[in-house]
Amino acid sequence: MNLGSKIILIVTKQKDGNATTTFLKKTLGTENIEPAVTPPPRTSNNAFVKKPRLGPSKSRKREIPEGLWNKCPQCSTLLYDKELDENLKVCLHCQHHFPIGARERINFLVETCSFTEHDADMVSVDPLEFPAYAEKLVRDRKSGAQKDAVVTGLGQIGTHRVALGVMDFSFLGGSMGSVVGEKLTRLIETGTQKELPVIIVSTSGGARMYEGMFSLMQMAKTCGALAYHAKQRLPFISILTDPTFAGVMASFATVGDLILAEPAARIGFAGARVIKDTTQSALPPDFQTSEFLLEHGLIDAIVPRKEMKSHLDFYLDFLMSGQKKILAPTE
Ligand SMILES: [Zn+2]
Repeated sequence: MNLGSKIILIVTKQKDGNATTTFLKKTLGTENIEPAVTPPPRTSNNAFVKKPRLGPSKSRKREIPEGLWNKCPQCSTLLYDKELDENLKVCLHCQHHFPIGARERINFLVETCSFTEHDADMVSVDPLEFPAYAEKLVRDRKSGAQKDAVVTGLGQIGTHRVALGVMDFSFLGGSMGSVVGEKLTRLIETGTQKELPVIIVSTSGGARMYEGMFSLMQMAKTCGALAYHAKQRLPFISILTDPTFAGVMASFATVGDLILAEPAARIGFAGARVIKDTTQSALPPDFQTSEFLLEHGLIDAIVPRKEMKSHLDFYLDFLMSGQKKILAPTE
C-alpha cells in the first residue's frame, strides 16, 4: 500500500549542535505517520498493513445478461437469441418451434415491405363489464406490438397478392373476441372483393369468454364471410400453429381448402384432460398433435416454419392457376 505515500524528511537540531535526520512516510488522506527507516513496533491501529475493506465483498460470479439466451424446452440446449431469431425461432438442434409473434411471422412470410396492415387501430370494448377484462386489455396493448390478438392486411408471397391474417398468442391467449372476428371478417371480405386468396395463421385458446356471446358470434361471422369467399372460387389456406384450440378450431381454422400445421403443434377442440375425464378412456401419447391429426385426416400437411413461405408460394401457384379462366365475365 505504498501508492499515494510520500516520504517526509524531518531534520531536528539536537542540543550538541548535531543534526539528525529521520524519514517519515505519510499516506495521503490519513493522519498516521510512520517512520520509513526505523519503524517502531506497531501492534494496533496498523492501517498500512491491513488491506482496506471496500464495503461489502462483490461477487465475482459471471452474470449472463437476460434476454441473450434461451433454453430449448425440448432438448434443453442453450440457444443464443440471435441465432434463434435467424433460424425463425426454431431450435437448431431438435427443430422445436418456439412461439413467435404475429409481426415476426408476417416478416418472414411475405416479401419485404409488401405488407399493408388494415384496421390496426380497432380496439375491443368491455361490453359485459367483465371483472378485470379492461385492465387485461390495457396490459396486453402496452406489452405487445398490436392492439388485439390478430394482425391483418394485404401482402405478397412469391408472385401472389394475398389477404393475410396472423394471430398472436401473447395477446390474451390469442382469444377471439369481437375485434379478432371483425378484423378477420373484413380481411376475408377484402379478399373476396379483390379476388385474392386468404391465408390465416391461427394460434388461440378459443373464443374470448370476457365478451361472452359477442365472441361466440364471431365463429359464425368469420365462417359466413369465408363461404362468400369460397363462392368466388378463391382459395382459403388455414395454418394451425401451437396451440390452436376451442372456438377458433370450431370455426374458420378448420374450413380451409388447405389446412396446414407446424410440426408438433397442439391442436384440438377441448383439452386432453377434459376429453379423458368425459370419455373415461386412455388417450394416445401424441393425441391432439399435428402429427396425430395428419394421420387421421384432419389436416393436409405438416410444414416446418422455415419452409412455409416456399410451400405457400407453391400451393398458391397451383390453387390460383387458371383463376381468370374460371372467373369468366358472365359468372
Ligand atoms: Zn431443442
